Amino acid sequence: MSRLDSFLEAALARIERAGQRRTLRASTLAPGGRVLREGRELVDFSSNDYLGLARHPLLVERAREWTAAHGTGSGASRLVTGTSAAHLALEAKIAAFKGTEAALLFATGWQANAAVIPALLAAIPGAAVFTDRLIHASMHAGVSMAGVRQHRFRHNDLDHLETLLASKGADAPARLILTESVFSMDGDRADLPRLAALAEAHDAALFVDEAHATGVLGPQGKGLSAEVPGRIDLIMGTFSKALGGFGAYVAGSQVLIDYLVNTASGFVFTTAPPPAVLGAIDAALDIVPGMEAERAHLAALGERLRTGLAALGLDHGASSTQIVPAMIGAEEDTLALSAKLEAAGFLASAIRPPTVPPGTSRLRLALRASHAREDVDAFLAALKAAL
Ligand code: PMP
Repeated sequence: MSRLDSFLEAALARIERAGQRRTLRASTLAPGGRVLREGRELVDFSSNDYLGLARHPLLVERAREWTAAHGTGSGASRLVTGTSAAHLALEAKIAAFKGTEAALLFATGWQANAAVIPALLAAIPGAAVFTDRLIHASMHAGVSMAGVRQHRFRHNDLDHLETLLASKGADAPARLILTESVFSMDGDRADLPRLAALAEAHDAALFVDEAHATGVLGPQGKGLSAEVPGRIDLIMGTFSKALGGFGAYVAGSQVLIDYLVNTASGFVFTTAPPPAVLGAIDAALDIVPGMEAERAHLAALGERLRTGLAALGLDHGASSTQIVPAMIGAEEDTLALSAKLEAAGFLASAIRPPTVPPGTSRLRLALRASHAREDVDAFLAALKAAL
C-alpha cells in the first residue's frame, strides 16, 4: 500500500467508526415517480426531479438537436472561445424568467456558490456576513474560501438576524445576508418580504439560493424571489432539480454579472457548459411556466404526506413544499427505517449528520409530480408498518 493510501485507509476507518462511511449505489430515474435500483423498481421519494422533466421528450430532443448542431463540447472557458451565441441567448432568457437585468450560467450550483461568494467578498474587504444556520454546504464553502467570519442566525429566526444586524459589524463597510428560499433538507421557506425589509433597513445586500424553489414555487415557477421583485441583490438557482437538467444560474444587476465574469474563479477557470446542457435548459424554460397543474399536484401531495405523517405521530418540521422531512432523531433508527422501507419497495433516504445537525436525522421525502396520491398512501402504510 502506498504512503498516501495508508493515510487514507486510516481516515476512512475513522469515518467508518463514526458510522458515517457511505458507498455509491447505481440508480436510474424511471417514469411514474419510480427509480430503478439494483434491478428493483422502487417508489422514489429521494430524487429532486420534482416536475418530471429529467426524461421529458422536449428536453431530450432539444439536447439531442443542439448536440447534433454544435457538438458535444464547448471547447474552452467562457472568456476564451467557450461563449456561443446560445450561451448569451440563454442567459437573456434566464434573466427574463427571473425578472432581473442579467444572468450568468455556472457549471453547477455548488460551483456557483463556492465561486460567487468569495468573489463578492473580495470587492468589499471587511464585510460582515450573516448566514442562516442551515444554508447549503456550498455557501459555507464560499464563505470559508473567502476567509471571512460569519455571524450565524438561528434557522429562519429573523428576530435573531435583526439582533445580529443591530449588534455585529457596525463598522463593517458592507453587510451580506445569505439564505435559501426553500431549505433543502427541511422543505420550509424563508420569509423573503421580511428579509428584504431587514436588508434594506440595515443597508445589507441579500443573496438567496433558489435551488429547490426554481420551477416549483412562485408565479409560473419563477421561484419565491418573485414575491419581492427587484429587492434581492443576488439570486442563485439550479437547473439540476425541478428543471430536469444540469447547471446553475446567478441572476441580478448587469454590474453584478459583469463583475462575476471578471472575478468568479469557478466561472473564469472552467470550461463553458456544453450544447446538450444548454438545449435541455432552454427547453425546460419554455415549458416550466405552463406547468401549473403539476405544481398544484405537488402542493396537494405535500399536504397529503404531511397530514399522514402527523397521523403517525411523526414531526415534519415547518415543511410547506414538495420536500417533507419525517423527523426520526437518532441516526441508527433512521437508517433502519430507511432500510425497511427499501425492502418494502420505497426509496426514502436517511439524512444524518453532518448533512443535518446531530439528533435531527430524518427521512428526507421529496415528491415528484409523477407520483399518484396512491403512492403517498402506500408509502404511509409501509412507514406505519416499518415503525
Ligand atoms: N444549493 C442548494 C440549496 C442545494 O440543495 C444544492 C444541491 N444539493 C446546491 C446548491 C448545489 O447545486 P448542484 O447540485 O447544481 O451543484
